[in-house]
Amino acid sequence: MASRGRITRRTTPAPRYADEDDVREFAAALNDNYLNCRRYGHTWKPWRVQLIDSEVGRSYEAITRCPSCKSLATEVLSMSGHQIRRHVKYSEGYLASNLGRIAGTGRDVLRLESVTRQFTAAEARAEKRRAS
Ligand SMILES: [Zn+2]
Repeated sequence: MASRGRITRRTTPAPRYADEDDVREFAAALNDNYLNCRRYGHTWKPWRVQLIDSEVGRSYEAITRCPSCKSLATEVLSMSGHQIRRHVKYSEGYLASNLGRIAGTGRDVLRLESVTRQFTAAEARAEKRRAS
């Protein structure tokens, strides 16, 4: 007879989700580049690489940079290419500190801010064309 999975007690607290109004305020204050990275993801590009001594010995430290938001991702790779660790240093103002995790309708708020900015800019260009 198959054994049933045991019910395990959650050991870490459930993630706190950001309030929609807080996300709206945060999104409105983000510059276009930060907002685009949040909506479409970062476009990491090779930045610097060097050999270092890490916990596994001789290793590569490869740094990539997002040209849009200027955040830096540092990867430590073994000489066979295995990723030992990765850390992202986000640019000042990129992270929503103390808001909680932006998910679900919070993501909707970010998308809406992005698309309404784009729409407003397109409308302004169209108006300018009509006027000239
Ligand atoms: Zn970025």
